[in-house]
Amino acid sequence: MARNKQNPKQKHVPQRTCVACRQAKAKRDLIRVVLLAEGGVAVDESGKRNGRGAYLCRDLACWDQAIKRGSLGRALHTSLQPEDVKMLEDFAQSLPGLSAEDKTST
Ligand SMILES: [Zn+2]
Repeated sequence: MARNKQNPKQKHVPQRTCVACRQAKAKRDLIRVVLLAEGGVAVDESGKRNGRGAYLCRDLACWDQAIKRGSLGRALHTSLQPEDVKMLEDFAQSLPGLSAEDKTST
């Protein structure tokens, strides 16, 4: 695997792995889904909520795959309830998708 020999001049950017496509990306390029203490899950766009989290690309395809194949539930050590799935799918539909990936203004 990688020998941890990054360019020393490069600033360290915290990286997380998408649970669907397994690609490591900068944290801000991913969206965190957090397991709530009271049960259920929430989309944590600030990335600061307490609880076990899983990361997904800002890409509908990854959300779709993670929800349908169960990798999101596995990453969160839970089984997603139908209402959670609905909420996550609704959120995924609102994602810009790959074509608009560089539209992260402000
Ligand atoms: Zn992904």
